[in-house]
Amino acid sequence: MSEIQPLDDLTLYDPFEGMRFTMHRCFLCGTPTAPPQDTIPVFADWLMTRYNLRERQIKLLDMSIVQYQDLRIACCPRCRTQHVEPLEARMEAAAEKGVAGFREVDEQTLFLWLGKMFYGILVTELLTELDPLARPQYPLAENALLLRRFQAFFQPLQALRVPMEYDDFTPASIFILEADPREDTMPFEYDDDLSTMGFSIKLGNAVLVACLVDNGIIQQAMRRVYQDAYRPLHPVQIAEFKARVYYAAYILNVIPDYYPRAVRPGDTEVVLDTLIDDVTTSIFNPWENSAYGQSLLEMWKRWQIPLEEILRNPAEPLTFLYDADGQPQVLEHFPQKAG
Ligand SMILES: [Zn+2]
Repeated sequence: MSEIQPLDDLTLYDPFEGMRFTMHRCFLCGTPTAPPQDTIPVFADWLMTRYNLRERQIKLLDMSIVQYQDLRIACCPRCRTQHVEPLEARMEAAAEKGVAGFREVDEQTLFLWLGKMFYGILVTELLTELDPLARPQYPLAENALLLRRFQAFFQPLQALRVPMEYDDFTPASIFILEADPREDTMPFEYDDDLSTMGFSIKLGNAVLVACLVDNGIIQQAMRRVYQDAYRPLHPVQIAEFKARVYYAAYILNVIPDYYPRAVRPGDTEVVLDTLIDDVTTSIFNPWENSAYGQSLLEMWKRWQIPLEEILRNPAEPLTFLYDADGQPQVLEHFPQKAG
């Protein structure tokens, strides 16, 4: 066992170096911790209380089932009280006000909040994999490209502990959608795609959809669709929007690199620069409607829309966000009544 000195306030931590994932070190600063008391829930207590999640089940990649309340990661008392709990208090207050509340929150805070949950799930999956008794179906820890992506993502995420400014970039694409209450039956929903870092959580009428490691590229690419979706949407429309984000994340072909500037005496924050390398490759792999159709099929599972219907016109997969003339469509009921 090596002795770990507490990190000073502007020193970044890298648990990916040597894959130091354990319940015995704080996820944010690496300080030794003692489970179970030095832990935080991946989904905050206020969230679990408000949406009655504690005993609800979640399936991990190795197909094991855990309850939301058992999803916890190591966190030292200092990081918990000074960084995580204040963030959760702020987001709880925002959630009280629904969609409008989330739209008032600055981008960095939203990124940190979504990122903390995503990272908690990721660490849980990695720990399950590193358990010698587990037989993972999709090994994350052995995929070099994935690890590079996770490692990149963890740098801006450290703004949760280290005062940090992102120099002229935003690490993620985050969309805030509003569910039309008329046929909305799900007060809470959550899903993720670890390999592409897609993440979505629904709290009441607010649905947050994100790709957490794209430097805002998907948000830029989907600017028009997002503008058109800035209105109450039927859940089947929200699912379509999610399919677009998740598929875009899937064909995203670049991983940002992040560079913390050297800290000088007197500095009060770390400035993070970013660079997207590989200027020779295209940012996105080609969009293929057949593959996008699969993404729609998955997201529309609840409505049981067959793939043949989704891809009836292979050049224009089924959409509920737009009408036949390509105009934003108001959808009150599903299935649509003939008009
Ligand atoms: Zn800590």
